[in-house]
Amino acid sequence: MLNLNDIQPICIAGQWRPGAGDRYATLYPATGEAVASLHAASVADVEEAILGADRAFRTSGWAQKKPHERAAVLFRVAQLIRENGEALAQLQRLDNGKPISETRNLVASAAATFQFFAAACETLEESLTPMRGDNLTMSVHEPMGVVAAITPWNSPIASEAQKMAPALAAGNAVVVKPAEVTPLAALALARLCIEAGVPAGLISVLPGKGSVIGDAITLHPLVKRVSFTGGTSTGKHIAHIAADKMMPVSLELGGKSPTMVFEDADIDHAVAGVLYGIFSSSGESCIAGSRLFVARSLHEPFMERLAAGAAALRVGDPADERTQMGPLITARHREGIERYVDMGVTDGGRIRTGGVRPKGPAFDRGYFYTPTIIEGLRNDQRICQEEIFGPVLVAMPFDDEEDLIRQANDSVYALAAGIWTRDYKRAWRVGRAVQAGNVWINTYKQFSISTPFGGWRDSGLGREKGRLGILQYMEQKAMYWGLNEQPLPWAG
Ligand code: NAD
Repeated sequence: MLNLNDIQPICIAGQWRPGAGDRYATLYPATGEAVASLHAASVADVEEAILGADRAFRTSGWAQKKPHERAAVLFRVAQLIRENGEALAQLQRLDNGKPISETRNLVASAAATFQFFAAACETLEESLTPMRGDNLTMSVHEPMGVVAAITPWNSPIASEAQKMAPALAAGNAVVVKPAEVTPLAALALARLCIEAGVPAGLISVLPGKGSVIGDAITLHPLVKRVSFTGGTSTGKHIAHIAADKMMPVSLELGGKSPTMVFEDADIDHAVAGVLYGIFSSSGESCIAGSRLFVARSLHEPFMERLAAGAAALRVGDPADERTQMGPLITARHREGIERYVDMGVTDGGRIRTGGVRPKGPAFDRGYFYTPTIIEGLRNDQRICQEEIFGPVLVAMPFDDEEDLIRQANDSVYALAAGIWTRDYKRAWRVGRAVQAGNVWINTYKQFSISTPFGGWRDSGLGREKGRLGILQYMEQKAMYWGLNEQPLPWAG
């Protein structure tokens, strides 16, 4: 499965062969070395994949299987992910440079996702609605046909599982468009789905440029739904296409999430939570707690501990189990982050810690950056408003709860928020007042597949996960079953 051949085939409606697009190499962000070489998909490959997916949807019998039969296959996918867990975790490390401890968790979460949606599929109930006449009335759901999953580079296998598992559970064919720089985990996952018994034609994985391959997929008339995770501007572009096609979409987009530390917080917990919230995954996380507000009375001692904690984080080799922060995804992305830090300083910010590339032979070839904290800025300044998607925290003091909530909500994004306080009434008040799709109280960046996830405003539309997440990939249908003993009276 994980033999990184010289030319990595891609998956076009179950056919494994090199794409007809340009050949390119994926790079290991820790060293810049080539990991795999593959040909991207071409627009003609997209056409073939979607026609093949549509044919497989109509002829493979997958959609007609009983839910418990589809579930059995998806349980097997979960089992195969676990059996290949270490190989997948290592592959994912090479794909995007995350520390191995983290990629192991992502692989475990992908297995759990397939298990969960297998169970959701098997236990999904349709409803009989209250009768209001001589009709038996029901609400049922049908698969849509060909659906698309477009994913970013920051958590490949977990993002793809979150879309593929419910899409397949619902009976659909799924065309996956992974990020150009991280296609390997999606390709491996597709192999496991087919090995487990998903009809091969139902699955395609089409790496390539978003503006070419992603657009061709989104625009295709046979694609009935797009589930997208990525940047807000790409999400808005997809929403425009979807509006023209009258196609449902779900959009999991960017964030600039506030974390709020009150004077009565448990400081040990808050320091650990804030560090984890922004610096895990090198800050390349949509839900990163990237805007910190600390009660003024606590501000200086808290910042002292936080900065010491950030400086002590182990940045380095992703293969080392002790590493907490690996490299950033590409050299270009690191340059973008550096420009934001420079902008923060130009705008009057002070770097409390970090703000540089780490030095030494271990870091020379990779795209590493130190955990960085910037103070002295106002919430309305650019680096406090724009998503940096890297290990950069902006920290500000606050004076009172009302003003804090105003500042926390003053963002185009509304994906997540963190609250640290011992006062349960305040936690409730602030938790309800903050505008965000996900609120963590005295914890941060915790997930559960059984809890719906998504954002408000520019952070997205729709929800993923949750037992009813499967319904996002189905059309709802009302059925009226006439029980009249007499003909309908109107014509009589
Ligand atoms: P991106 O928007 O550049 O790319 C995401 C995916 O969309 C890639 O596969 C890309 O090739 C594809 N794409 C690009 N242009 C396209 C187009 N015109 N049509 C169709 N597809 C297109 O985002 P990225 O840089 O890969 O990822 C980072 C962003 O993702 C950040 O903003 C981050 O916050 C967001 N993100 C959100 C979540 C969430 O759940 N809310 C999770 C992870 C990442």
